[in-house]
Amino acid sequence: MPLRWDSPVEELPGIGPARAKRLQKLGLSTVGGLLAWFPRDYEDRRKVSTIQDAKEGEPACIQGLVAEQPRHSFVRKGLELIRFRVVDAASSMTVTFFNQTYIKDVLHLGMEYIFYGQVEGPPGRRQMNNPVVEPLDKQRFTGRIMPVYPLTAGISNHLIAGGVRRGLDDCLDQLPDLLPEDVRKEHQLASAAYAWETVHFPPSFEELEVARRRLVFEELFFLSAGLTMLRGRRTGTHGPKCEPAALEDYYETLPFALTGAQKRAVEAAAADMTSGGVMNRLVQGDVGSGKTVVAAACAWLAAQSGWQSALMAPTELLAGQHAQTLEPLLGRSGLTVGLLTGSVKGKARKTLLSQLAAGEIDLLVGTHALLSEGVEFCRLGLVITDEQHRFGVNQRAALAERSGEKPHVMVMSATPIPRTLALIIYGDLEVSVIDERPPGRQEIDTFLVGEDKRQRMYGFVRKQVEEGHQVYLVCPAVEENPEAGTGLTLKAVTTYSQTLQNQVFPDLKVGLVHGKMKPKEKEAAMAAFSRGETDLLVATTVIEVGVDVANATLMVIENADRFGLSQLHQLRGRVGRSGHKSYCVLVSGNRNPETRQRLKALCATNDGFQIAEEDLKLRGPGDFFGQRQHGLPPLRVADLAEDVQLLQEAQAAARTLLKADPELSAPEHREVRERVRSLFENNPDIFN
Ligand code: ADP
Ligand code: MG
Repeated sequence: MPLRWDSPVEELPGIGPARAKRLQKLGLSTVGGLLAWFPRDYEDRRKVSTIQDAKEGEPACIQGLVAEQPRHSFVRKGLELIRFRVVDAASSMTVTFFNQTYIKDVLHLGMEYIFYGQVEGPPGRRQMNNPVVEPLDKQRFTGRIMPVYPLTAGISNHLIAGGVRRGLDDCLDQLPDLLPEDVRKEHQLASAAYAWETVHFPPSFEELEVARRRLVFEELFFLSAGLTMLRGRRTGTHGPKCEPAALEDYYETLPFALTGAQKRAVEAAAADMTSGGVMNRLVQGDVGSGKTVVAAACAWLAAQSGWQSALMAPTELLAGQHAQTLEPLLGRSGLTVGLLTGSVKGKARKTLLSQLAAGEIDLLVGTHALLSEGVEFCRLGLVITDEQHRFGVNQRAALAERSGEKPHVMVMSATPIPRTLALIIYGDLEVSVIDERPPGRQEIDTFLVGEDKRQRMYGFVRKQVEEGHQVYLVCPAVEENPEAGTGLTLKAVTTYSQTLQNQVFPDLKVGLVHGKMKPKEKEAAMAAFSRGETDLLVATTVIEVGVDVANATLMVIENADRFGLSQLHQLRGRVGRSGHKSYCVLVSGNRNPETRQRLKALCATNDGFQIAEEDLKLRGPGDFFGQRQHGLPPLRVADLAEDVQLLQEAQAAARTLLKADPELSAPEHREVRERVRSLFENNPDIFN
């Protein structure tokens, strides 16, 4: 009986209950699910070479004749070999199978086979271990471009490939083509059936590209359609209406003049907030570009119309610092700023909450504690989140839903996000970019040094302190953590700070802050550094975001290769926050050329966006955020570093479609609507 799209995988040949259970681990329970399990790579097994010509150390297909009866030897318990000689017209090789004794009964003396595997040894002493072997006239996995699937224990690549082959043969005609016909025509995309067949078993790499283009487009099309709908949901609704107010009046209370970019961001937000609709705006700006005051101006504008604002930061430390910075920026205009974190308890908390409910607090700053029960605003009009990529779309929605009505939302991101990613993660937001630094900012000179320059580096640290400045020294891990195999020990903050204090800088004051300290201790250490009571601050990445000590002019980052580029750039942004010349020293003994290239990119530029693009190319999107964190459906085929062009095409196509049919309610769009709904099942408000 032919299989159906939703047949259980057990119905495939070779898959019994045990294997089905293992496949379940990959989330594969039906034939259709298996077909949607796209290869992660391909092996070119088309070209057959001779034993002589095959390249040593590389995989090859070799056509040869079994020239002797396979010998079975028993080396020790758990290790059995089958070994025999294979010949072709010109030379021979030894083929060995480990612990696959059944091979002896499958291969026959004098018959020809295709052997695919890694070729070892020079001509004359050629060998191949555990090759894939198929009879010359019955090739399934050789002689073609072979898909390589993501696997799990007990599930082989051939098992999946075999199941997929059978599934395609039986079910391909049941595959609906979800892309609207006119979209497919306009963008010259292959049919779904062609794309699915070809992505698994491509006859050539050119055809694979055609298939992939279709699948990537489709994936990005449905994603864009969903995001466009989410955005439409918001723009369509009424928001807390703010009366226009003279922003100049607010600017005059500030200790500095706003940059042009800051003003543009404030004005764009003000236009949103006074429009009667709901603002959904991302303010993106490199570290130190001055996003806080933009947030303050918006809170001020909201307050002029009696609306309260909330600002949510990812950590207590940051929330505290924001409150401290915002207090003077708003206090001078007579606004009240409150701070609510997990550690505000008992009576203080009660008082704060009652003030909040009475409308006596204009801006409440906090961590996700702002989302907890019992936090009731009187008239919440604006929600600002900082470092958004650490919150997800869903958390953003949760906060927005808190008040029952939809407040304005402003998202501040200090991590410059490559354009492609921003289009996806923030596809539902308007974007302001602060692309100008406050005056007086200088480039941070960045150097990459190896262990051999450690003493010089210490000398440089001392010099900064002698000139009256302070220095951060950042390490990747809290506990001693010997790297497997390398014999290299990560600089653990605790021991490192002891060594610095006792042996290297006994005359200086060394502070320590890391994520495993109690909040009170952390705060104390940060405060001491900020007051200039400690000269050096040894830290983990807890200082990554927000911490602002103008007198710090040097940041040393140990084991710099352990960090992502964007993270290093963030860290580096902790210095250079005043007129003083500032430096960053990356210490790394890593000799890997790619790693060095990565770190050198950081030495070459101070432009966060350029660095982010580089990071995306080198390490992929996973490093910017975990899939789950941003709350969007995972991408299976699209590569965000490479597929910018296709993303834009797909986005344009999705917008065109939604312009014509905003709710996808036309009968011919029913399937598109279903697809979008299932993609965004975690965002139930996409269709209301
Ligand atoms: P970030 O964008 O990293 O959040 P901040 O808002 O913390 O940046 O601003 C960094 C520093 O620059 C703060 O000390 C702030 O007071 C200062 N600053 C912001 N805008 C200006 C400006 N227009 N002129 C001078 N200093 C500014
Ligand atoms: Mg900030």
